[in-house]
Amino acid sequence: MHPIWNKDVMYLRKVGPVRADALRSDCRIATYGDLLQYFPRKYADRSRVSRIKDLREEGKPVNLIGKITSIHTSATRSGRSILNASFTDGSGFIELTWFEGVKWLQKSLKTGEEVALYGTPLLYNGRLQIAHPEIDRLESEDGVRNTLQIVPFYPSTEKLNRLGLDARGFRGLMHQLLEETRDQIEETLPLSLLKQYNLMGRKEALINIHFPRNFDTLKAALDRLKFEEFFFFQLMLALRRRLAKGQNRSMPFPVVGDYFNTFFKEHMPFELTGAQKRVLKEIRKDLAQPVQMNRLVQGDVGSGKTMVAFMSMLLAVDNGFQATIMTPTAILAEQHYKKISAMAAKVGLKTVLLVGSQRKKERTAILEMLASGEAAFAVGTHALIEDPVVFKRLGLVVVDEQHKFGVMQRARLWQKANPLPHNMSMTATPIPRTLAMTVYGDVDVSVIDELPPGRKPIQTVVAGEAKRLEVFGMIRRELEMGRQAYVVYPLVEESEKSDLLAAEQGHEVLQKAFQGFRTGLVHGRMKPENKEIEMQQFIRRETHILVSTTVIEVGVDVPNASVMMIENAERFGLSQLHQLRGRVGRGADQSYCVLMAGAKLSLDGKKRLSAMRETQDGFRIAEIDLELRGPGDFLGTRQSGLPEFQLGNIVEDQPVLRLAREAAFLLSERDPELQEADHQALRQSYIAYLQKQGASSTLA
Ligand code: ADP
Ligand code: MG
Repeated sequence: MHPIWNKDVMYLRKVGPVRADALRSDCRIATYGDLLQYFPRKYADRSRVSRIKDLREEGKPVNLIGKITSIHTSATRSGRSILNASFTDGSGFIELTWFEGVKWLQKSLKTGEEVALYGTPLLYNGRLQIAHPEIDRLESEDGVRNTLQIVPFYPSTEKLNRLGLDARGFRGLMHQLLEETRDQIEETLPLSLLKQYNLMGRKEALINIHFPRNFDTLKAALDRLKFEEFFFFQLMLALRRRLAKGQNRSMPFPVVGDYFNTFFKEHMPFELTGAQKRVLKEIRKDLAQPVQMNRLVQGDVGSGKTMVAFMSMLLAVDNGFQATIMTPTAILAEQHYKKISAMAAKVGLKTVLLVGSQRKKERTAILEMLASGEAAFAVGTHALIEDPVVFKRLGLVVVDEQHKFGVMQRARLWQKANPLPHNMSMTATPIPRTLAMTVYGDVDVSVIDELPPGRKPIQTVVAGEAKRLEVFGMIRRELEMGRQAYVVYPLVEESEKSDLLAAEQGHEVLQKAFQGFRTGLVHGRMKPENKEIEMQQFIRRETHILVSTTVIEVGVDVPNASVMMIENAERFGLSQLHQLRGRVGRGADQSYCVLMAGAKLSLDGKKRLSAMRETQDGFRIAEIDLELRGPGDFLGTRQSGLPEFQLGNIVEDQPVLRLAREAAFLLSERDPELQEADHQALRQSYIAYLQKQGASSTLA
């Protein structure tokens, strides 16, 4: 990289120490390089000049070129001064008005000089007028830069404005910067790539992003710079993946043996769906390799992820290994334990349950069975991660509802085996397919996109307060048929207390409204033991209605529950609503989801509720959620390890992202160490990129 990019911005003409301080603190611009990468927030098209005789009131700004013919001041009744000027371009006259900065304008405006004007004509007393137009002198170079072309607007702050760095001030700086440095702007991408993907050169792109020649070159400049941003990120993913495949050795499971085959042929309770079979095949292929599997299985609520996990666990045993499945809650662990231990017993395998609440004696026996290898499978919560837990030969780790765990927690389970165990994560919060394909590099993604046959779609209705009695009537009919119902209240941190109150009051109301039935209450502030007791009572059908704040979100399986009623549904996120709805519709009977909504809904709130009514497809829901929230919120940028892209948007710029990914992965295959002569500039920029991201090097 040319040393000029590290030069302190203070030394740029027109900057100096005071402005430099402000640029550093307000815009994180410290060097020439930072300034070059400080991109406009928007552009205004000031390239087309109108004629006064053609002007209409259209609410749109126009450009005019002409002269001020006269200037005069007057005063409002309240004594404020107003500046008026008459302006002509030869085709007609128009009145200009200013209410502010009158003194300064009186001094600076001149009659008779050719100027460019930018402003919005509005009718006033039957005549067109322009209030507060921008006036640029055409003789000065400064003036020309601000008009009669596409002009950039930079994000600025009040402090910077006061120091003269408003839109115009910034344009001046950028102009100065480019004057001094344009010949030092170096290409970062290999020429072959520029040609292959028809990309604008870096120098031209940077000049055009600041001062576009026209909208076509602006688009080409943006595409090029977005491509570059995505390309470096994808290159990092591609090289990391190569590195992992080389380093993360694991034991291969080449055998599909008796356990797998016997269970499959004799004990499989149903026919696997096509999607389950496909995903299982993908997993089998991974497991046969001497490289650690790192696979994320996405599948909607109820798509049958557990069986896929169980069959994979049998493969581990067929190859002489143990397997474990970790869940975010004890209830979920117990439910999995029940299913998995029963299935495992059919082929003579032992399963243990490991949760925090177990007594010492019980626990010691369990740990002993894991250490000796007597137990093939362990199901549990993060109690599994703790130090005294030792496996004889752990080969596969399954993490259920993986989004509930941090990266570190998962990694700690891996340390329980040497070589590394294979890793499979499961989630019912799907990430739209296109997104997953482009933002994950080091994880392989499998999708179970098919529900087992015979599921009745859940009937979803949105109801206002006026419909409450009707809704209660429906719930009563379900309860009388022996079904159960959930009623969920939102819990938002800032107003936690009042929300808890709402749930408690709601609980009382429901108890009165549903006499003869028992109602339980769980909320986030309860002790885990008490929560557990309440949940168990519902699972055993000792309570019929379970009132809760969102704590039931994850995983509970009560097939007898047929109603999910959500209060203030507009306050929930879309994915959360979908998860909650997934708690019902698990049995053979018709189930219902009632979304109670207030009268005043935001536009987004409305969209969420209608999405819920329209579709039950988790991937479709995820896509809508992504559109509504944007990728940052949706993926939780920090947690996902995704960098903040300055220009590129991983949703809107999918086409560019896909090309950049293709290019990066191809290049990583051809020249993983970036040694070719044509790749030297790229190598330097890539190293700088890694440093900026705080990422460790992927090069040897
Ligand atoms: P999730 O993907 O939400 O974890 P589960 O694995 O709990 O879903 O499966 C939901 C229910 O569907 C379970 O009762 C399970 O036994 C059943 N199931 C799974 N696969 C099939 C299938 N292929 N055919 C019929 N029922 C299935
Ligand atoms: Mg599950």
